[in-house]
Amino acid sequence: MVVFYDPIYTDGIHKEARFPRDRYRLLAEHLASCPELELRRPEPISRDLLITAHDPEYVDRFLGGRLSEKEMRRIGLRPWTEAIVERTLRLTGGSVQALHEVVRTGGVSGNMAGGTHHAFYAEGSGYCVFNDLAIVALQALELPGIEQVLILDLDVHQGDGTATLFQHHPMVHTVSMHGAKNFPFRKQKSDWDIALPNGTGDEEYLNILAQVLEDLNSRHVQLLLYQAGVDPLEADHLGHLNLSRQGLDRRNRMVFDWAERQRIPVVIFMGGGYATPIERSVEAFVDLFTEAARRHARSRSRPEGTQPDEGDG
Ligand SMILES: [Zn+2]
Repeated sequence: MVVFYDPIYTDGIHKEARFPRDRYRLLAEHLASCPELELRRPEPISRDLLITAHDPEYVDRFLGGRLSEKEMRRIGLRPWTEAIVERTLRLTGGSVQALHEVVRTGGVSGNMAGGTHHAFYAEGSGYCVFNDLAIVALQALELPGIEQVLILDLDVHQGDGTATLFQHHPMVHTVSMHGAKNFPFRKQKSDWDIALPNGTGDEEYLNILAQVLEDLNSRHVQLLLYQAGVDPLEADHLGHLNLSRQGLDRRNRMVFDWAERQRIPVVIFMGGGYATPIERSVEAFVDLFTEAARRHARSRSRPEGTQPDEGDG
């Protein structure tokens, strides 16, 4: 399985920023020894693709370093480095290239960053400059055979930017399962929002997810964009939910099982993870990407037209 990654994911964030930038480097170190996984450097995304989902004026002001103080503060990741533009372009490019990878292979690919679901049409927010989920969904609809796309956002924070960008869009379905009392405090309207109380643990969370996935059976989508943030983890200081590492691993397996039963490809977007120590988040991301790589390898070895075993994994 190909996963897009560039050292600039870490190095493009200032070392004094509050954001735990080392999580990318640490995760890449862990995944380097996984034989089923190839880390590939993404190309920067083009301006043409950015403006499929964003206001050209906002895009140009970001690219030209002309965002206002207030706009930069709302995004965070500060103090900004000179590499913030290249970081953002490569990071967003990685998600688009992961899409092309899954379309080519029919399996799973992902970006070891992204899932920047707080970015709106003409402004960034909450560590997100551009909304890669939205850009990828719109790009996918240009491809033959993809008429309906599901964005399943299991990051602990609501996918508010994504919800707004696709409100009333007939071909992109947005589902967000998140903490009710967490950022963003002004929630937007996804096609389906599942707001969870603080302290929700493994069993309750996974029971709800099982019901959600069952309901999604009837949507008949041809592509899953999975925002797989691990910030529902108990150790996460921006989370307020109580999932264990094992609970998150089961969550991911349920999502992959569902996609296998639907026989659709999956693009993984990394999403949030802010545990103390950051190694707890990194471990949960290792579980995510190694499980995905295993699924991808299995999908490639399965003869065309056969179904995965029911309940396998
Ligand atoms: Zn989050």
